[in-house]
Amino acid sequence: MGQCMALSEAELIARYFRSCGAQRRDVVLGVGDDAALLDCPPGAQLVATTDTLVAGVHFPPSAPAAAVGHRALAVNLSDVAAMGARPAWALLALTLPEADERWLTEFAAGFASLARAHDVALVGGDTTRGPLTVTVQLLGHVPPGSALTRAGGRAGDLLYVSGSPGDAGAGLAIEQGRLTAPPAAAAYLRERFLLPTPRVALGERLREYARACIDVSDGLLGDAGKLAAASGVGLEIRFEELPVSRALVEALGPDAARQLALTAGDDYELVFAVEPGRAVELERALPPSQWNYRQIGVLRAAPGAVLTRDGTVMEFSHSGYQHFA
Ligand code: ADP
Ligand code: MG
Repeated sequence: MGQCMALSEAELIARYFRSCGAQRRDVVLGVGDDAALLDCPPGAQLVATTDTLVAGVHFPPSAPAAAVGHRALAVNLSDVAAMGARPAWALLALTLPEADERWLTEFAAGFASLARAHDVALVGGDTTRGPLTVTVQLLGHVPPGSALTRAGGRAGDLLYVSGSPGDAGAGLAIEQGRLTAPPAAAAYLRERFLLPTPRVALGERLREYARACIDVSDGLLGDAGKLAAASGVGLEIRFEELPVSRALVEALGPDAARQLALTAGDDYELVFAVEPGRAVELERALPPSQWNYRQIGVLRAAPGAVLTRDGTVMEFSHSGYQHFA
């Protein structure tokens, strides 16, 4: 970056990003040199992911800066969680229309608090001028051969989801003025969109119990379908088992809430497949009420997705969205 901002690039980096996030002893060199130097745990496999957020595309321009900082890291943490891995180091490529110090302070605070909560160090990045775009690269590690992938599921596996999908989609609709809800429900849903909770601890624990895992970024039905397709199987989801929050039901009613839970994006929950013989162990080690997940269906041999309601196959169109049209 050149001298186009009042604050020089070096000043900006030093002020906001030099010690942003956790301090880790395995960071030999962090922000400030030409590249970061990291000590990977001996024998571990490195897990790497990156995601870009473009203002107006992946978040509304009205979103608070702290929420943008949180989200940029959260979406990457969710990918690492879906691999069953432990996150460790992040890089941040930031494109800014201007060096707005208040925006940067809040953005860095939102990023840093989530990073510290997951012991993630910000070890480098890049800063350029242009339309607001935030790219985070996240590195983590996993014991060799133990990562969860989308591909390990088999017919007969039990299919689970964490959290209460649909909340973020409703929160976005509220943020954009397309949906209204009672004040407490609206505040909750909006927060589920703005500050998603990546299921990092659950993902790491699931390494022991799940055969396949994916995070829900584009909608539960579609993302569960990706897991099934990668595993070479199909799936059945039982509509009445879909976990929906009280706030979502207050906003939409029980049926539209579950339809939105199937189709809405941005939830960053985990969908995972567990061999039936291991379900008892899973639920004993990680009590569902405490770890916040629920069985919603099964993987089956026939390809494609089937949705049932009280035992009957349901016709399904993506009408959850039309509710807001
Ligand atoms: P270079 O020209 O070698 O790419 P830069 O001036 O872009 O160096 O960056 C200087 C240092 O600051 C590097 O260590 C880089 O990783 C880090 N850095 C730049 N921008 C950011 C950012 N937004 N967040 C964290 N670290 C950054
Ligand atoms: Mg650079």
